[in-house]
Amino acid sequence: MRNARALLGVWLALTMFIATGCSSDEPHQEVNLYSARIESLIKPLLDQFTEQTGIQVNLVTGNADELLQRLQSEGRNTPADMLLTTDAGRLHRAMEVGLLQPIDSAVLVEQIPASYRHSDGYWFGLSLRARPIMYVKGKIDPLELSTYEALADPRWKNSICVRSSSNIYNQSLTASMIAANGEEATEQWAKGLVANFARSPQGGDRDQISAAAAGQCDIAIANTYYLAGMLTSNDPQQREAAEKIAVFWPNQDDRGTHINVSGAGVINNAKNAENAIKLLEFLSSETAQQWYAEANGEYPVVANIAKGEVLEQFGEFRADPLDMKILGELNADALRLMDRAGWQ
Ligand code: FE
Repeated sequence: MRNARALLGVWLALTMFIATGCSSDEPHQEVNLYSARIESLIKPLLDQFTEQTGIQVNLVTGNADELLQRLQSEGRNTPADMLLTTDAGRLHRAMEVGLLQPIDSAVLVEQIPASYRHSDGYWFGLSLRARPIMYVKGKIDPLELSTYEALADPRWKNSICVRSSSNIYNQSLTASMIAANGEEATEQWAKGLVANFARSPQGGDRDQISAAAAGQCDIAIANTYYLAGMLTSNDPQQREAAEKIAVFWPNQDDRGTHINVSGAGVINNAKNAENAIKLLEFLSSETAQQWYAEANGEYPVVANIAKGEVLEQFGEFRADPLDMKILGELNADALRLMDRAGWQ
């Protein structure tokens, strides 16, 4: 009996050794990332991070609002250490409901310009997404284009394709216009814009570009990385459509073109906060920043990073320097205003 027990003890110790796979003096390093960015647009970078640091990244991807809800319901028990979203509005929302903690990192403060991160370190922008005007080459003379505001002019009746107001990109664009022009003027603008729609809003940004290429409208509003993605697509039809389209940078004589940031913050009560900070720092490194531009078609937040061929061809532009947190603060106002203007 005693022998049997001793044997059982040895067997248990052995299985535990096999299960954990190693001795205990080097604890397993990991970071749990909730990401609203789809896996293919972040995984290669995470793999590089793991290779460099030995820290494993456990990735949970999902819709941004669902991830926020999940974090709230998991509360203190959440396994998440870090939240990555593709817009500042969501990061602001996460901060407001107390999901994020302020991070003090000299690397991040040095790498990322102040306007692309929260002043108290609650979140950090990692790539820029520009939302310019796009037009069909040969159909529109770019000299006729100027600002987002001017798209409300009746001369553009039946000319414009843009996705629905339920999309955060349009909410943030509208929020930036409220910040620049006030609520009343922006409501008038939204009404004028809606009156110029070539069709009722449907599909995503790529669909607006395709619709313009197919002759359904002459002007689209879309994020540049969609056009970049189509230009470098394996699908010849996508490339052919994209080649008919050019980028126009609006508001270059005043505040600049509307941009948003994709970024991340560290979760309150994160169990692997230090690893999360290391990952944030890695994502602001030159290698990662270059990858964003070349593989994702987004603009680096860090200055003087090579942008790659496709972004170079879109040209240089002046970006609206508006503090990103305003986009979050004005989100609800923007949404109500778009609704009143009949922007479906
Ligand atoms: Fe997108």
